[in-house]
Amino acid sequence: MDYFRKCRYGKLSAEELNNYINLKQKVKDYIVANSKKLSKSNTTMVSKVWDTSKQKVSDSYIGLSGKKNLNKFLDNLQSQKNSMYLHEDIIEGIRELVARKGVEINEEALMHANKGYLTNADREYLSTILKDISQRPWNVLNCGDVRAVNEALIKGANKSDLMGASYNVGKQIFEMRCNNCEITTKGTQWYLQQAEPYKQNMY
Ligand SMILES: [Zn+2]
Repeated sequence: MDYFRKCRYGKLSAEELNNYINLKQKVKDYIVANSKKLSKSNTTMVSKVWDTSKQKVSDSYIGLSGKKNLNKFLDNLQSQKNSMYLHEDIIEGIRELVARKGVEINEEALMHANKGYLTNADREYLSTILKDISQRPWNVLNCGDVRAVNEALIKGANKSDLMGASYNVGKQIFEMRCNNCEITTKGTQWYLQQAEPYKQNMY
């Protein structure tokens, strides 16, 4: 019965449905195993992104929402010891958000983010601009969705192989990506992304 109900979300193959079921379970397992850490860091959204082409679902990338987790990410972009950087595909999405707002962005700061070496001034600048261009009341990189996809991409994943799911810990429901993440993570598959009209076909 569960399968038939989920078909209403749109065109999903049996394999995709099965993948989503596994991924959703991993998100819930993570929350159970990390409940203390999540409440301590005020995390409301937990995201997992799975590279379906080469990994097991248990190796999926984790993304946690919130300022504390965003700051940790920015710390990593500033640290020479850490190999984290902002992937070009995510930067493309940021440029699209910039264009939609009709503003301009300092390409040098983006380049530093892409190289994984942010200066203090870049960090301050990006913190402001990424809030200004946001279509929601939070910084574009505040979401775990975009940061988990970023990590998967820098580990060499193809966008079209990526499948994500986001869980709202407070409301205890899976949710769609926000308007920002729909743009910055365009080309990936996301649980509940199919807001298309109901299709008759059953798969
Ligand atoms: Zn988002």
